[in-house]
Amino acid sequence: MRQEVVIATRNEKKFKELKRLFRSSRVKILSLKDFPQVPEVIENGRTFTDNAIKKAISASRYIDKVILADDSGLEVDALKGRPGVHSARYAGPEKDDDLNMEKLLRALRDKPQKRRQARFRCAVAIAKEGGVLSLVEGVCEGRIGSAKRGITGFGYDPVFIPEGKKKTFAQLGPKTKDRLSHRAKALRKAKSFIQIYFSKAL
Ligand code: IMP
Repeated sequence: MRQEVVIATRNEKKFKELKRLFRSSRVKILSLKDFPQVPEVIENGRTFTDNAIKKAISASRYIDKVILADDSGLEVDALKGRPGVHSARYAGPEKDDDLNMEKLLRALRDKPQKRRQARFRCAVAIAKEGGVLSLVEGVCEGRIGSAKRGITGFGYDPVFIPEGKKKTFAQLGPKTKDRLSHRAKALRKAKSFIQIYFSKAL
């Protein structure tokens, strides 16, 4: 079997990050841009895992290859886990990163350092022919800074400070993010599964 995996996303920045995390493996990585026949999925699950499963299963019904879908977001303790599965649309349907971060900083305005704990969570579903092959998760603990800092990455990176660091993901840059992030942790597990899957399918 050809070692090809389709990442179920049309988000260029996310695809770049996921593709980078597969760099060391022999698997060829494609995205939904190569498969325009796959319809958009409504991400209305209650959990990240629900949404990842929905995206992976849907794409696997249109494409006869191994599909990997991720769903991720930010959970803030002082906001009882919000924005959670609504992270992309926290400030409205435009999915505007700057507006989302401004809303978050406003919501935490009065909270001291120790009450700004948060985590990124990433659920990954791997599917083929309408069935789930594997589910994995990665978590990155940290806190929300007092202002936007840094220019790399996407989403909430300029306000998220990973545990043990003093700088945001957007200041630390892609190399450090690829070691510490929720997506990197989930992807490491997904890569191990995919390697075993392809070695058995040979
Ligand atoms: P998605 O549903 O997995 O595309 O992610 C939902 C939203 O969570 C994104 O639009 C971002 O706002 C946020 N998010 C997920 N992962 C990251 C990350 O690595 N950095 C910053 N924000 C993220």
